[in-house]
Amino acid sequence: ILEVEHISKSFNKTPVLKDVGFNLEKGQAVSIIGSSGSGKTTLLRCLNFLEHPDNGIIRVNGETLFDASVPATTQESVIRKKRLHFGLVFQNFNLFPQYTALENVMLAKKLLATEQPDFKERKREILTAIEVQAKVLLTQMGLDNRMDNYPHQLSGGQCQRVAIARALALQPDILCFDEPTSALDPELTGEVLKVIRELADQNTTMIIVTHEMAFARDVADHVIFMDDGRIVEQGDPRQVFENPSEERTKQFLSRFH
Ligand code: ATP
Repeated sequence: ILEVEHISKSFNKTPVLKDVGFNLEKGQAVSIIGSSGSGKTTLLRCLNFLEHPDNGIIRVNGETLFDASVPATTQESVIRKKRLHFGLVFQNFNLFPQYTALENVMLAKKLLATEQPDFKERKREILTAIEVQAKVLLTQMGLDNRMDNYPHQLSGGQCQRVAIARALALQPDILCFDEPTSALDPELTGEVLKVIRELADQNTTMIIVTHEMAFARDVADHVIFMDDGRIVEQGDPRQVFENPSEERTKQFLSRFH
């Protein structure tokens, strides 16, 4: 479903991603591990068109969404359409504080719906469908009794589950998580990991950047270890975690024993 080839990115001439490439099959979960500053977040941001790679190609479902050798479009509607292939869940939730949980989940979908040519005639029907879908997602996240709460009335774990529902509402091909539990107290981490695990069990295609090593191993079909902007090692989680072939991977993982 996703092909990433030769992605490179520098900030102020400092290389942060160096020739990164990997593939992801539909229904697979890949976890990306690596020390702080190794480029994991920057890679996710490149995939979500929040950063512009200096080099490389990104394809989704065989369609080239990004090719550094071709002049990039600046047309906002085109970039937005490309972004819809990816859902992104941030460390800090990034919910809109002035909207309820339900409104947060519905918002993007509503905005998109207004661009449909038949929106005016079918407004009521379309908005009802969006609301029903948002309620189903929030229920799936265990938040059926929290839909009308504002973010400040919710715990961090609940906010993150709203953010996951919001990302799912747009039905992305690939759901990306950037350290989804790093802003949470340990006791709230479990509830967020649980819903991500359920999504993996339902064969949601996912990329998960995480510092939770046990989770990275258990939930993923494929693990990528990054160091200093490169993919040092990637493969089956059991092989990478239990029998890494690279010295650098061994060193990194030894910190977690
Ligand atoms: P962490 O686990 O701490 O989130 P990471 O592996 O996600 O780390 P990145 O956030 O991708 O790493 O950062 C990689 C490097 O790129 C870091 O040295 C960081 O300082 C640098 N960097 C990231 N974004 C920018 C930017 N906008 N401008 C300049 N340097 C940046």
